Amino acid sequence: MSMFYRSTRDDSVKVTASQAILKGLAADGGLFVPESIPSLDKSLEELSKMNYKEVAYEVMKLMLDDFTEEELKSCIDRAYDSKFDTEEMTPLVKVENEYFLELFHGATIAFKDMALSILPHLLTTSAKKNNVKNEIVILTATSGDTGKAALAGFANVPGTKIIVFYPKNGVSPIQEKQMVTQKGDNTYVIGIKGNFDDAQTGVKNIFSDKELEKVMNDAGFQFSSANSINIGRLVPQIVYYVYAYAKLLANGEIKDGEKINVVVPTGNFGNILAAFYAKNMGLPINKFICASNENKVLYDFFTTGEYDRNREFVLTTSPSMDILISSNLERLIYRIAGNNAAKNAELMASLKSEGKYKITDDMKAQLADFYGNYATEAEDAATIKKIYEDCGYVIDTHTSVAATVYDKYRKETGDTTKTVIASTASPYKFTRSVMNAIDSKYDSMGDFELVDELSKISNVKVPNAIEEIRTAPVLHDTVCDSDKMCDEVKKILGI
Ligand SMILES: *Cc1c(COP(=O)(O)O)cnc(C)c1O
Repeated sequence: MSMFYRSTRDDSVKVTASQAILKGLAADGGLFVPESIPSLDKSLEELSKMNYKEVAYEVMKLMLDDFTEEELKSCIDRAYDSKFDTEEMTPLVKVENEYFLELFHGATIAFKDMALSILPHLLTTSAKKNNVKNEIVILTATSGDTGKAALAGFANVPGTKIIVFYPKNGVSPIQEKQMVTQKGDNTYVIGIKGNFDDAQTGVKNIFSDKELEKVMNDAGFQFSSANSINIGRLVPQIVYYVYAYAKLLANGEIKDGEKINVVVPTGNFGNILAAFYAKNMGLPINKFICASNENKVLYDFFTTGEYDRNREFVLTTSPSMDILISSNLERLIYRIAGNNAAKNAELMASLKSEGKYKITDDMKAQLADFYGNYATEAEDAATIKKIYEDCGYVIDTHTSVAATVYDKYRKETGDTTKTVIASTASPYKFTRSVMNAIDSKYDSMGDFELVDELSKISNVKVPNAIEEIRTAPVLHDTVCDSDKMCDEVKKILGI
């Protein structure tokens, strides 16, 4: 074992991968980052002959090097199984000149499944390795997608319970139905009277309640988080970039060593950071094209070098990207500050107090591989319609942000490098927005009517995740006031 993780805010912190997974966030509020990023020890040629699980092992063994081969392979086997509706896990679909990397073939038809189907196993293995005897209680506040993906990932995983809070009137009907029909004896879903921020604040308060922590410990429980800043979510996301490259090579679409571009529809900056780590591990990537919706904080940051969250929050049709604080960007900031925790901590303190910070010219110069742009709501809808009409391929609203921004990049730069677009959700997850973009006549149809219509026009079978909820019984119907969340947790745990 030779790899350790450091905190982005305190140089004295040094933990193993499994400890970083267990902790999620460093005690100083910083994020865990690998001390140095290991290089792939298999050639691209060798990787091109492997299946998804084999590539996953080759990538993850380097980043999580305190896991034994047996432990890691067992986690991978349990994660990437028949929960996915294709053996390939992440099919690469060529549409005109681009390659859409479909990351939505898991249990909840969004890319979060790629990480959340393995995180529970990484977490329980980490607990065992570190002699944690308590049962792990995952506590999550969700605005929709993460909650369901976490529920699906943790359902029936021995040694865990998962409790999800969502704003009762703040998620889409399909999202709510997906959550309240969740099976599994260890799953709990609670609607709160309040918005997402109330749910989030409630969860944070429960996490930081020292007295509760003690009572929990005495009863044999401890909290953990499935939050996207956990390296147990970041590391599995590196895999599909390596796999996509390997597939392009295997299919003769690129030559060994040829650079590719990747386009990522971005919110919290986790997915695109994983691509950046893939490049650091040796994957030939030219540009990271960071695509934002109208919440274009990142576009402004890449353009000006100033990150400024002081602006109006826009509700868009790509809600999973409606974010003004891209938490994972901190890992990149730390890196371009020369792995300087003090400098990074200063910028993050400024973000907290002023809502903004500015990086130096030196730091900005290190962002040359990144290109940022954004898509307006109208552009997003127009791209969905255009790709459907030209090619018969239907993409979701988030993927369309990426496709729109890629189009702008292409026109601006004339760069013809082969390009992979991360396709982060199935169009079935956002059926109404997608169908409205294609034709306004769909406006009057009911949710499931639209689902059938989408299947007709796209020639894609309705995914299980949607079929299931048509008739699934509601199993969770608890609703509570936002200041009663802690009581609900205690009730569930019997403490
Ligand atoms: C979470 C999510 C994103 C944003 O990913 P980040 O890693 O937060 O940048 C994009 N699209 C979909 C569908 C998502 O669920």
